[in-house]
Amino acid sequence: MKVVHTIADLRAQLSNRSKRVLVPTMGNLHEGHLRLIDTARRHGEQVIASIFVNRLLFAPHEDFDRYPRTLERDCEMLASRGCDLVFAPDEKELYPQPQTFKVHPDPALADILEGHFRPGFFTGVCTVVMKLLSCVQPDVAIFGQKDYQQWRIMERLVNQFALPLQIVGEPTCRAEDGLALSSRNAYLNPTERVQAAQLSTQLRQIAEALRSGATDTSTLEAQATQTLNDQGWKVDYVTVRRRMDLLPPAPGEALAGACVVLAAARMGQTRLIDNLEV
Ligand code: AMP
Repeated sequence: MKVVHTIADLRAQLSNRSKRVLVPTMGNLHEGHLRLIDTARRHGEQVIASIFVNRLLFAPHEDFDRYPRTLERDCEMLASRGCDLVFAPDEKELYPQPQTFKVHPDPALADILEGHFRPGFFTGVCTVVMKLLSCVQPDVAIFGQKDYQQWRIMERLVNQFALPLQIVGEPTCRAEDGLALSSRNAYLNPTERVQAAQLSTQLRQIAEALRSGATDTSTLEAQATQTLNDQGWKVDYVTVRRRMDLLPPAPGEALAGACVVLAAARMGQTRLIDNLEV
């Protein structure tokens, strides 16, 4: 496995004869990321992982400076799963000048949910992903369904710009107690780590109720929010949305097979997100 830090070195390593698959990450890898690498292997011949903590994704009060950076360990993990090439540019390489050209996604999809609580977040995501796509020019790019809204926005981005690649969504990888794996789980203290599973428990309960025929999504959302707040969480949202456009389902609309329940909540200092398709 080769590790490159510049766009020039990256381009020199890209194979023109094989199908290229990109897995964009911010590093501090865990098993969830490695599943994306496994899936990438099945979709093409040259697997490229990018590792870049993108400043554009972080608001001034967020955790850009303390976001864990573990390049050496990440590379060992990637090599052990058959990644071919790692692109780990520094900020000066990817943003030699301030990035004044940006990709602004459709507000209807990007200013809701995560975009509501983190204004500009998806502009940061789309801008850096567009740049990574233009550096790597992959045939396929893999995104985790853990970041459900991000995955849907990527599908729309590729579709609207007619980018010549396929987006593949990888199902969320969870710990045994149901907690979705995330680099930010490392911020949880041992007590918080035990409590953190409560978030996916609430999502499961809503999903099961809807699959069993419940239709009152507002009550289910309110009950889950109340339970989590009573357990010490600070809930940003727990909400049932349509899978494709992330809008609330209309009254009478089919829920099972068509919706996803999404949540974001803070446990202590740590903000976690999760979702479950219904
Ligand atoms: P990040 O480094 O957190 O930006 O994540 C890089 C990619 O890995 C994104 O597409 C995430 O959605 C995906 N990812 C992160 N955690 C998980 C998980 N637990 N299961 C599946 N995909 C994940």
